[in-house]
Amino acid sequence: MADGAGRWGRRTVLRRAALLAGGAALGAAATSQTTWIADRRLPLAGGPASATVGNGHQQVGAGSVEVAWGVRTSERLVALTFDDGPRPQWTPMVLDTLEQHAVPATFFLVGERARQHAVLVRGRLGRHEVGNHSWAHHDLARMDAHTAYDDLRRSHDAIAEATGTAPRLLRPPWGHLGGAVLHAAARLDYRLVLWTLQMVEGEYPHDPVGHARRIVADVQPGTILLGHDVGTEQRLVALRGLPDMIIGLRDRGYTFVTVSQLLRHAVVV
Ligand SMILES: [Zn+2]
Repeated sequence: MADGAGRWGRRTVLRRAALLAGGAALGAAATSQTTWIADRRLPLAGGPASATVGNGHQQVGAGSVEVAWGVRTSERLVALTFDDGPRPQWTPMVLDTLEQHAVPATFFLVGERARQHAVLVRGRLGRHEVGNHSWAHHDLARMDAHTAYDDLRRSHDAIAEATGTAPRLLRPPWGHLGGAVLHAAARLDYRLVLWTLQMVEGEYPHDPVGHARRIVADVQPGTILLGHDVGTEQRLVALRGLPDMIIGLRDRGYTFVTVSQLLRHAVVV
C-alpha cells in the first residue's frame, strides 16, 4: 500500500502504454513513443471511450443495451431505414412513395431537424417507426457520457414532440460507437441499431434502375438496409429507384417491416 492512488494510476497508465506500443517496451526498454502515449493519460474512467461514469451508482435504465446490425432468420423480412431527416427537399417524396406501396420504414431523425420541420412528418408516420439519430448529427463517439446523454435526451424530446411517439431506437451518426454512447443509450433504454447493407449511390450515377437491381440482389433475410432521405443530389439515385426496389424485393418474396418488428422476428402480413 506504499503507492498512493495517484502513483498507482500512473503505473497503470504506463503499463497500458507499453502494451499499446507493442508489448516489448516494459521497464528499461521503454521508448520515447511509450512516454508520449503515457503523457496522453488514457482516461481510465470518463471520456468518450468509457462506459462508466463516476464512482456512485450507475444510472443506466434497465441495465443493459442491445446492439443490432440485422437479424439472422430464414424468413424473408427486410427493414428499410432512412437517416438524417426530416428535410423538405426529399422527405415528402420518400413518404409518398412508401405510402403508395404501403411499405413501412424506420426513420432515424435528427432532433433539431424534427423540431424545425415537424410539419413534414406530423400525421404521416402511422405505418412507420422513428429512431433517434442525435440532436445535430455531431459525432457522439467524441463526447463523454454526460454530453452524449444531453445530446440524445434533447433529440429524444424533440422527436417525441414532433411525431407524437417517443423513439426506442438509437442509430449514432456514421455508426460511431464509443463507451459513452453505450452508457447514454442505456440511460435512455434504447436499442442500438446499425445496418447490414447500405445504398451504394456512388456506384450507380444517374442509374436508379441499376442501383435498385443491385440492392434487390444483395438483400438477405433479416437485412437492415440503410438509406438517406437527406444529402447530396447523388442520393437521388436510391430514392428515384425506390419503387423498383420495393417491387423487386416483393417479387423475391420479401416483406417490409420496421426495425422493431424485425427484431421481434414478427411476420407482418
Ligand atoms: Zn446520419
